[in-house]
Amino acid sequence: MAHRRSLSQSLVSCLGVVLLCVVLPHAAESAGQAVSRQAAGPNVSVGVTDYRSKNFLVHTDLPSAEAQRLLARLETMLGHMTRYWGRPNRKIVECYVVDRLTNWPTGAIDPRALPSIRANAGITLSGILTRGNRFSAKSRVYSVSRRGTPQHEAVHAYCMQTFGRTGPVWYSEGMAEVGNYWREKDSKAVHCNAIVVNYLRRSKPKAIHEIVQPRRPPRDSWQNYAWRWALCHLLGNNPNYAPRFRPLGLALLTGKPGVNFQRVYGPVSREVAFEYLFFLQHLERGFRVDLCSWDWKAKYRIPRGGSSVTMLILAGRGWQPSRLRVTRGGQYAYSAKGTWKTGSEEQPISADGRKDKTGRLMGIIFDDYTLSKPFEMGTYGTFTSPMDGKLLLRCRDRWNEIADNSGTIKLRLKIAGRGKPLPRPKQTGQQDAGSSKTATLKKRTGS
Ligand SMILES: [Zn+2]
Repeated sequence: MAHRRSLSQSLVSCLGVVLLCVVLPHAAESAGQAVSRQAAGPNVSVGVTDYRSKNFLVHTDLPSAEAQRLLARLETMLGHMTRYWGRPNRKIVECYVVDRLTNWPTGAIDPRALPSIRANAGITLSGILTRGNRFSAKSRVYSVSRRGTPQHEAVHAYCMQTFGRTGPVWYSEGMAEVGNYWREKDSKAVHCNAIVVNYLRRSKPKAIHEIVQPRRPPRDSWQNYAWRWALCHLLGNNPNYAPRFRPLGLALLTGKPGVNFQRVYGPVSREVAFEYLFFLQHLERGFRVDLCSWDWKAKYRIPRGGSSVTMLILAGRGWQPSRLRVTRGGQYAYSAKGTWKTGSEEQPISADGRKDKTGRLMGIIFDDYTLSKPFEMGTYGTFTSPMDGKLLLRCRDRWNEIADNSGTIKLRLKIAGRGKPLPRPKQTGQQDAGSSKTATLKKRTGS
């Protein structure tokens, strides 16, 4: 109370902050969302009712069951975001969630919010009193009921009420989209809308320095939101960048001077850019940036003489370092022992994989932030390196389905034709008829 009194008594500045948000076009709703909306029953007018939970006061004309589900989703999302930022929510977040505007009495919605509601979007209106570093903020969310929009706006409202600001536009909107798409189950996976995935995969990648422009463009778009989400999702979940992303976010939210994207990620800008492009190229719902992160610290060496290098390759990860530096045209022998699984219900298979090539050991060469085309390996044989660089390996599977893979292959690698031949591994695990033989015939050169 003392805090509030001193603020009102010696008010230095009072400003209204309007966060007008752009959302996906209506057609963007996924089939799953549409089904769940229909399942809620006919869109009859139910009037406007208040619903309370620990952190939210929601005024809405949604049917009661749907309003309760919305409240639960908001609480779950807010719990995640407050744990992430390490600042508990101390003020009720008030939301006006509109299913049908005709259900609302005239004057119930702030006139400043009506254009956004009519545009099928959302807006967060905030009033903030500041005195020096102290502030008191009150936000109101106005949002259509479409899944995701209330969560997006609620992130803005929480940030305004907790930090007094939401950060630069790329961070503010990127993190609001992270909140929108965050799901309790499989929380690190991509859950964004299919139209966002398609747009990001099919578009020329927007340069990171363009995404982190501090000012909002005069005509913002859902496409800009998609790029901001992609960057925030990557940096927030990839273990190479996540430890720096949270302090950066807190610095932006608390207005710490001199801290910005360039200062934090400038020294690793090429690594960030590489993983950002890799993420966009492989983006699918279910993709896990944490499991596909690049091991930048791995040391690679040129193999000497006939000695071999041994490494473990996990089925449940993306490209993993072999620690072997290879040369273009060089021939290398390999022998892979053990089995792995490409799904919790699948049978264990060798590095030859199945007939459809799922589970097959694959190689790729990395050099100067560029990659060769992936090439097939298997349990036993040789390959010719398509370029100079570092050899990386992985278990072939759809990029968005590696989280449920398990098992490890123990791989030995050496220069072909030098020293003792590598031992041929005993065939273990279930094989598709013929696959092992074909692989053996193709690769019978051994060492
Ligand atoms: Zn927003």
